[in-house]
Amino acid sequence: MQTEKILVTGGCGFIGSNFITYMLDKYNSISIVNLDLLTYAGKLENLSHITSNRYKFIHGDISDRSLVFKLFAKENFDIVINFAAESHVDRSVSNPDIFINTNIVGTQVLLDASKLYSIKRFHQVSTDEVYGDLPLDALDLFFTEKTPLNPSSPYSASKASADFLVNAYHTTYKLNTTISRCSNNYGPYQCSEKLIPHMIKKALNNEQLPVYGDGKNIRDWLHVLDHCEAIDTIVNLGSSGDIYNVGGHNEKSNLEVVNTILSSLNKSEDLISFINDRPGHDLRYAIDPTKIKNLLGWNPKYNFDFGIKETIDWYVNNPSYL
Ligand code: NAD
Repeated sequence: MQTEKILVTGGCGFIGSNFITYMLDKYNSISIVNLDLLTYAGKLENLSHITSNRYKFIHGDISDRSLVFKLFAKENFDIVINFAAESHVDRSVSNPDIFINTNIVGTQVLLDASKLYSIKRFHQVSTDEVYGDLPLDALDLFFTEKTPLNPSSPYSASKASADFLVNAYHTTYKLNTTISRCSNNYGPYQCSEKLIPHMIKKALNNEQLPVYGDGKNIRDWLHVLDHCEAIDTIVNLGSSGDIYNVGGHNEKSNLEVVNTILSSLNKSEDLISFINDRPGHDLRYAIDPTKIKNLLGWNPKYNFDFGIKETIDWYVNNPSYL
């Protein structure tokens, strides 16, 4: 990557903070401005190890048009990478409004600013959840980039709407865009409300681990650093207007993941407690990553069994994070 100034939004969250660290370590020539609202999911301490003068934090809302336009006017960005989102499905079931504002309106504000300031590449960090779900009894079915969008939750509907806006700005205004749709991520610095850190916290405290329904719902897990590398690859090599699915064929039922955590921590499976299922709970996600592998040469590096153990160790060694 040449000398580039990158706007990363939502960089104090789980994936954004891993991405900023990854990029500053990898490239000496880039500088990063991180625009983050510091919601319950954003933590400044996720990036407290960064001392580089190539990094700057700005506290603000991506849907604040005046703030965003002033920031673009001042900073002269080359690239925009939009991680900022309300990302918790359960929260979207109880309070969809904020998902519409951040995930849809916020994305549109960033697109408008990117258009006005002729940004060289706008990258939208999307999710496989925009495709809806797959049946549990047809394990040969996978999401490809051509799978029709069929989101189930207010979260995934808001992410799908943002994807449509990104594509529309590419088609209508010729904005240089790419979209990545990744499967579930695991790794350090994830908000403790999410499945893996939440279950580690409960297990460490010898509390009941609440598992939705019968625990058979399947998620496709990818290490967060593999996701970061995929985004970097797409921003550098991806074709404008294209969408890339990102995943590593690590399909696990929620119960398998919870059992892995319990056995790694030498805790009994008796701690599991099955609770009423989430309304609209998607059954199975499974990504076909053939396009990004064949066209861009990206391949995940983390083996799930190794990565999950390393991740559990990280939370055990950083208990204040939980
Ligand atoms: P996260 O919830 O951990 O972090 C979101 C960040 O966005 C936080 O730092 C928060 O403060 C910030 N934010 C929220 N609203 C904002 C606003 N209006 N303006 C500025 N900043 C705001 O999320 P994450 O898990 O890191 O996910 C990042 C992106 O990746 C999201 O767009 C999500 O949809 C997508 N994604 C996540 C996963 C996953 O497994 N976590 C998988 C695929 C895609």
